[in-house]
Amino acid sequence: MTEHTLTVAGVAVDTRHWIGGERVASAETFTDVSPIDGSVLGEISRGTAAEADLAVAAAKAAFPAWATTSRAERARILHAVADGVEKRIEDLAIVETTDNGALLRSHRRGVMPRVAHNFRFFADRLLNLDHEDFETRGHTNHVSWDPAGPSVLITPWNAPLMLSTWKVAPALAAGNTVVLKPAEWTPLTASLLADIAAEAGLPAGVLNIVQGYGSEIGDALTSHPDVRRISFTGSVPTAQRITQSAAANLTPLSLELGGKSPLLVFADADLDLAAGLAVEQYDNAGQVCLAATRILVEETVAEEFTRRFVEKAAAIVQGDPRDEATDIGPNIHERQLEKIDGFVRRAVEAGARAVIGGHRGEGRYYAPTLLTDVAQDSEIVQEEVFGPVLTLQTFTTEDEAVQLANDTRFGLAATLATGDRDRAARVTQRLVAGTVWVNCFFVRDLQAPFGGSRHSGVGREGGTWSFDFYCDLKNTVTAPKGWNNHG
Ligand code: NAD
Repeated sequence: MTEHTLTVAGVAVDTRHWIGGERVASAETFTDVSPIDGSVLGEISRGTAAEADLAVAAAKAAFPAWATTSRAERARILHAVADGVEKRIEDLAIVETTDNGALLRSHRRGVMPRVAHNFRFFADRLLNLDHEDFETRGHTNHVSWDPAGPSVLITPWNAPLMLSTWKVAPALAAGNTVVLKPAEWTPLTASLLADIAAEAGLPAGVLNIVQGYGSEIGDALTSHPDVRRISFTGSVPTAQRITQSAAANLTPLSLELGGKSPLLVFADADLDLAAGLAVEQYDNAGQVCLAATRILVEETVAEEFTRRFVEKAAAIVQGDPRDEATDIGPNIHERQLEKIDGFVRRAVEAGARAVIGGHRGEGRYYAPTLLTDVAQDSEIVQEEVFGPVLTLQTFTTEDEAVQLANDTRFGLAATLATGDRDRAARVTQRLVAGTVWVNCFFVRDLQAPFGGSRHSGVGREGGTWSFDFYCDLKNTVTAPKGWNNHG
């Protein structure tokens, strides 16, 4: 152990940045705290503009060689990174759980395998990344996917490694080099990823990781003239700030932002399934961008739906996320809990009624909450809470359901519970949402486009769409043999 290492459940994590294939310490640090019990995990290098510049310079220097590395070799290395992730699933899972409070069992069995899959999927997609040639008057139009260059990737704390690798994997596959800035509340698994990538043979400077507060290091990264792409997942205000910062160089942006997604429950739905879908929205203590936090239920079945919902919600086990029996762990930070409680208190003052919850629990826990008697234009219906707080409203017609569903500034996702396939098709077509789930939630193929409309984001990632973003597409037009423009 050195002064630059912390340990979580016996797993050593380097607390320094990873730049140009070396660990780099900052003069200043910030304290990383576990949301489970408030314990201090360690002091993390706190990046400034100087480290941002260093990381972008390393990414720039490594770019020409990585961009011209064959696709097969890039894919081989990405699969080796996936192997490394799979070998260390237990380490990654316990470190992530300790750092962000989400369930150990889901990190072990769902999230970390998906992290490995992110690398495998984009490695394989790269090998099939082609476009048929077009032909115009005998001339061939050939499309090539040129790597764009150094890419800055900025990620949040609610699903740290999963969301980081969702960007890192396609960016690297495309032939770009990367500067990743993980969220300051959850920097640890990104540091482990640096170890894994180095061991897998990823060349120095291809992946760089800088830690620190967005407010201190963010502008230096997003306004840097050598950065060719910025992909950001996080909140709307930060996205607005980044957009301004990137404007100086017209750096292309991909923005995956917040949501206030609806769950529409029609009278013809399987109400048990619908209630189950609603309770699922408390997963990760409600800290899920896609969460359907606005339940819209047809009036005739509202009472029965609520009864079943309350019954299922009563069975939720809130507690230590390392315990297999736990369904919901703590919220990430005291500041976040105060924010959640503020939303709920203001809603109640405005006339909302808490069917369940409505208050904080012990420590960093918030009681799963369902609020009714909420007005469509109220804050609690319009703004993202990012905690285990749902609202319930009723509708009487399909038109009204669609109108309420679309009536926020967001457009990330929507979930429908209905037994009528025709209705599902009709309603889906009218919803403003990047993803619509019908009688299910959260399942998604990585080939599909992912992103949001309106204030939920700009652009789509996933499958070919990720390569679209991380590449500079080029069309090369070649004349037929012997062609002469005077002939
Ligand atoms: P945030 O915007 O506060 O922070 C996200 C990241 O941006 C962090 O790494 C932070 O350090 C960095 N940052 C902050 N200021 C910056 C600046 N000026 N320049 C550059 N970077 C800066 O968001 P958060 O609270 O960490 O995350 C929660 C939000 O993320 C919610 O709104 C949630 O809906 C959204 N989210 C969206 C998706 C999606 O795919 N659409 C997924 C997960 C989370």
